[in-house]
This record gives sequence, C-alpha cells and structure tokens, in this order.
Amino acid sequence: MNTPDVQGVADQAQVVGRYKVIPLIQEGAGESFNTAVAESDVQESLGLPGTLVDDWHDKAIARLGQLLKERRGLRVFMDTCTKCGACTDKCHYFLGTHDPNNMPVARQDLIRSVYRRYFTWAGRWFPWLVGARKLDKNLLQQWYTYFHQCSECRRCTVFCPKGIDTSEVTMAGREVLASVGLGQQYSQEIITKVKSVGNNLGMKPRALADVLENLEEDILDETGIPVRLPLDEEGADMLVVTPSADFFAEPHVDGLIGYAKVLHQAGIHWTFSSEASEAANFGLFTGQHDHMREIALRIRHAAMGLGVNRIVIGECGHAWRVAYSFLDSLVGPMQFLSKEHPRAEHICEVTHQLLQQGIIQLDPTRNEGVIVTYHDSCNVARGSGMGNVANGQLTIPRELLKASVPGFVEMSKDTVGQTTFCCGGGGGLLTDDLMDIRIKGSLPRAQALQAVVNSDQVTHLVAICAICKTQLSSVLPHHNLVDVRVTSLHHLVGDALVLT
Ligand code: SF4
Ligand code: SF4
Repeated sequence: MNTPDVQGVADQAQVVGRYKVIPLIQEGAGESFNTAVAESDVQESLGLPGTLVDDWHDKAIARLGQLLKERRGLRVFMDTCTKCGACTDKCHYFLGTHDPNNMPVARQDLIRSVYRRYFTWAGRWFPWLVGARKLDKNLLQQWYTYFHQCSECRRCTVFCPKGIDTSEVTMAGREVLASVGLGQQYSQEIITKVKSVGNNLGMKPRALADVLENLEEDILDETGIPVRLPLDEEGADMLVVTPSADFFAEPHVDGLIGYAKVLHQAGIHWTFSSEASEAANFGLFTGQHDHMREIALRIRHAAMGLGVNRIVIGECGHAWRVAYSFLDSLVGPMQFLSKEHPRAEHICEVTHQLLQQGIIQLDPTRNEGVIVTYHDSCNVARGSGMGNVANGQLTIPRELLKASVPGFVEMSKDTVGQTTFCCGGGGGLLTDDLMDIRIKGSLPRAQALQAVVNSDQVTHLVAICAICKTQLSSVLPHHNLVDVRVTSLHHLVGDALVLT
C-alpha cells in the first residue's frame, strides 16, 4: 500500500491526471520473504549438487559465463540498459513491497554488476566507475531472495525502450543458483514428480482413471448426457494435455468439464494421456532448458504413441507459452500431426472455431446474473499468440466470454492485455512459503478488480491459467474481495453450451 503521504500525492495526481507517483522506497522491505532451498535428494535426482558446493564462487562465475555464451539475448540485456527508469514502477512486487531490489532494473543489476566485474574490461579495472561487484555470499543470498520475487511475467519488458527481458535474467540467476546447489524446493520437486510420474501432483495412472470416471458420472447426473473423459484411447483424433489441477481442484475442474462438454457436442474423438497428464512445464521457470525439453518430450511421445492428429493444450498460461513459442524448437518437427493442425492448439481456439463454424451454440442466458471480468494471464498475453489472428490470445477468450455470459466488463486499460498485471503467484512462486510476497504482489490486480466490482458489480473473475486461478482464489480474500468468484473460462462456456 502507498504510505499516507504518497497516497495523498497520488490522489492529487489522479485529479490532475498528469503523472503517476512512484511509491517511496523501503530498503530491505522484501528481504525476509524467502522460499525453501531444495533438499539434497531432490537436487541430486536432477543431476545437481545436493547442497552449496565448496567452490560455489568459481562454479557460479563459470556457469554464468557459459550462459552468456549460450544465450545471446542475456549478454545483450547485460550491455544495453541505459538506466532510463521506465521500468521502475512497472513490477507488481515493487508496487506491493516498495523494496528497491524489486524494481526490474535493480533486479537485473544483481547479475549485471557481477557480469561487469568478471566479464568486462572496465569492470575488471575500474569496478567503482561502472557499478561492478564481486560475487560474495551476501550477494548470492540476494540473488536467491530477489530472483524468487520475480514471477517472470515480462510486464516490465513492455515498457522498456530497449526491450530488456527481466524474466530471462531471473531464469539465468535461478539456473546459476541451482547449479551450485541452491535450487528452489517447490519448483525442483515438481520437476522430479512430472519426470517420474507424468504430472506435477504425482498422481498415478490408476488414480487418474478413477477421477475421470467419477467426473463422467457427475456430468451424467447433472445433464443426463453421457459425456466421456477418455484416457489413453489409441486412434483418437485429438490429444488434450491440461494442467493436473484441472483433474480435481476447484475452480479448475469445472473448466475441464467444460472442455469435455464442448468436444462431446462437436463429436470429436479425443483423449487424455496418462504419460503426458500434465501441461505445466516448470523447466521454463527454473531456466533449466534440458528439463524443459525433457518435460516437453513426454507430450510428443504420448501423441505419437496414441496416433493422434492434433495436440490441444488446456487452460494453463505458461504451458501455452511453451507449446506456442517453444514446442517446435524443443521437440519438433511435429510432422506426425495433420496438415490442417500442424502445431499445438489452445482449447480456447478450438472452442472458438467450433462456435464460428456453428458446430456448437452458446446461450448466455444460461449464466443468468453473471457479470464477468477477464484477467489476462502474463504468459498468454505477452508470451504467445492464438488462432492465427493478430492478438488472438487477447481477443479469442473475450469473444468466448461475451458469447457465454450476459455481462462482460474490462478492468482498467493499463492492467489488461499486453500490460496485464501478474496474479502474483506465477513463475514458481505459488508456494505457501511465499504467501506474504504473493499477497503483496497481487495488490495491483486486486485494486483493478475492486474498481470494476464497485462500478459494475462484477461477480466473476475469469482466467485461463491454473496458477492464476489458484493464486487469485487464495489471495483475493486478503484484499477483502470475498464475493468475487474466480473461475475457469470453460466453466462458463460449459454452462452456456447447448448440449444435446
Ligand atoms: S518480469 Fe514481472 S515480476 Fe519480474 S521484474 Fe519484470 S515485472 Fe517484475
Ligand atoms: S526500462 Fe529498460 S533501459 Fe530503462 S532502466 Fe529499465 S531495464 Fe534499463
């Protein structure tokens, strides 16, 4: 929250409407918010050191040097910042904590200063002149703290005149930390589970089959129609890969039921896979490209084994970014997919196309009384496209919602679309030990939501990302937003669908 003085100035600025106030900084305000370091067995199972290695300094510098060679963008980002300040107030964690290390430029400088000291001539000889620093234990701890207070959302990048991508810097920082024994427990444990069992939750195939059977019974009870949720069905036309939260957790599962209803109504022969029963790919968050590739390979392998012609990704923000932006370079080419559907598709674009072709009908009166606003998930809005139309990732979900509910309201312009604010829990931060920072980081989204609740009596906040849905359900009560229901887009689509 703004301090009273700053708030006063902010109110005045709103009236004058000429400038925005950057919150007063509070040094170290976020330094106590830390996430647990990965246990040794988890690290070792990923081929990484179990604890901080004795020669951590030399290893960290060597790994950073390697990343600077491999990731050319990273080196460009190190050299091109002009300290213009355009990004300083664009990060939700800075706005929530006021900690200057959460300004995107300062977060980058945690690595940039080390880069200058070890990899530039000026930094070696005149470190005081160019802000170069030696990597010591204190700085290493700051890396750990503040690279886990960045959700890799890339909002700051939209405002940077040089296009510097702070998420790439954060990923590099986390990658170096993991390589010297300081991985994050939450993300690394999830990667071990998805590699060993197939999904983030460690849910075995038998348990998954039971869950799907029970859901089929629920849909039959509700609608009287035998809608199927098939698993491992060879010869199906379409493989659906979705975040595992969709299989049982609220508010996700209603979205999964919505996918099933749409695909049933369209007469599509589709299936889930127990081998690829998870769309999420935490290798993106940890910056470990080899893990990202290994996790993505499961999808390719499952699709080829089942003989499908199409791959469709469910409502998961970063999974869609990986599928849309990286799948082909990670595990392509996907020459086994049909010519009509040569790349992974999003469930929203599938539903949208069916609607446009008149194959399904949506009746918004079935969602009587529902007034919706839409939260653009960062990885969808800023990291992908959708449906072969310009800005489809922004327009397609909105068109589906407008066709499904009687009332749709946009939040403030600077908090949606490509300038959307992160929910506060993305990028590997959706863990209980970071609850304080998650609440603080969700402040800008909560403020924008509160405004449309006040002005338009919004009843539902819709997202197409499992992390956003979980995070917003948990944090909105902390902002006194207790009456807004967070839900899946396909929940409302499924309820509006004319099912026969
Ligand atoms: S990528 Fe997002 S979380 Fe990270 S510094 Fe930029 S705005 Fe903040
Ligand atoms: S907006 Fe870009 S160039 Fe300007 S300070 Fe931030 S990172 Fe540096």
